Amino acid sequence: MKPILSIQNEELILQRYPARENDTLQAWDSADEYLINTLAERNLDPTRPILIFNDSFGALSNWLSTRGCIYNISDSFIAQQACRENLKENAKASINYLNCRDSLPKNPQAVIIKIPKNNRLLKWQLDQIAQVVSADCDVIAGAKTKEIHTSTLRLFEQKLGETHTSLAVKKSRLIFCRPNSHRPSNPSTEQATIWSVPEYNFTLFNHVNVFAGEKLDIGARFFLEHLPQDPAAEHIIDLGCGNGVIGLQCARLNPDARVTCVDESDMAVASARENADRNLTNPDQLNAMMNNCLTGMQPETADWVVCNPPFHQQNTITDHIAWQMFCDAKHVLKMKGKLRIIGNRHLGYHVKLKRLFGNVTTIASNNKFVILEAEKRPTRTTS
Ligand code: SAM
Repeated sequence: MKPILSIQNEELILQRYPARENDTLQAWDSADEYLINTLAERNLDPTRPILIFNDSFGALSNWLSTRGCIYNISDSFIAQQACRENLKENAKASINYLNCRDSLPKNPQAVIIKIPKNNRLLKWQLDQIAQVVSADCDVIAGAKTKEIHTSTLRLFEQKLGETHTSLAVKKSRLIFCRPNSHRPSNPSTEQATIWSVPEYNFTLFNHVNVFAGEKLDIGARFFLEHLPQDPAAEHIIDLGCGNGVIGLQCARLNPDARVTCVDESDMAVASARENADRNLTNPDQLNAMMNNCLTGMQPETADWVVCNPPFHQQNTITDHIAWQMFCDAKHVLKMKGKLRIIGNRHLGYHVKLKRLFGNVTTIASNNKFVILEAEKRPTRTTS
């Protein structure tokens, strides 16, 4: 049975992406429901733009798809793929997709925001919204109550105009904001960061939604000391690349190998590309691409996959992405190719790698992290 959200006399099939049988993680939350119930009371003009920011898996876009000219704006490839698949499942017309670096359509009738976990992304988005809204635009944001702080309300007030908040329903709250027609023209204030890692002679550029965008992650710093150097390597993949720092160092250590950086965040991929141009003598050595793990990539084509896996999807802590990353890595590795990963000690990745590859070696560890390696070997068949 596919999961169904019954709301406002409609039944919407809503699944995460990629859809998994018996997924215990739901594709919508109570803030989505609260937003939909509130929007159902509005008179919407089907011809005028509605901007939807950070729609988790397409619940809002699916419900609103026929009620306005919809723009789904997100940094996440997975969120937008989920939305596309769910629209297809529900036989809904297609909508417009923008990433968070794109310019926005002018004069929307409504702006709907799922508050992102990353406050810098929220500031960036409010700055962008301030450029295109007029005083008749309804700006409504939703999130779990614990994610809405006084500082969040102040931010809406500062960037857009008069703001108030709703009562909590099922542990979620809404923010209502009316853009001030006399607000000063508000040049974008939240910017990409650029900082250096002198020990490695890197200058790293980070769009606002990149993992560890303000300083080098301590796990990444430890991983940098233990990356493979393999003169025979032809192709190395940095899976979940963020700003590309791990892939860049692999490129430097293995000048004859081509490096592919993969991430599901558009801003991460754009930052990794920018960082290859800034830091590599031969920037063409590195290719950066957006994907869900290594979906669709050719099997047996990589000598190494290096990976600092995520342990959450949006606001949910989960190890299913790490597991998919390990399975995909095994698929794209050549025979005798190796996966090298870093993880917090308590995450128990060694058990997963042993189960999948039949072998696992500890390359290094400190009090917080462990670096593990698994080799792709022929599977033994018993006669
Ligand atoms: N490699 C970088 C570093 O070490 O600083 C970033 C590591 S961060 C822990 C994990 C990265 O995985 C994030 O950049 C995140 O956007 C990315 N990610 C999460 N889910 C993904 C998926 N399904 N496919 C590809 N990348 C994903």
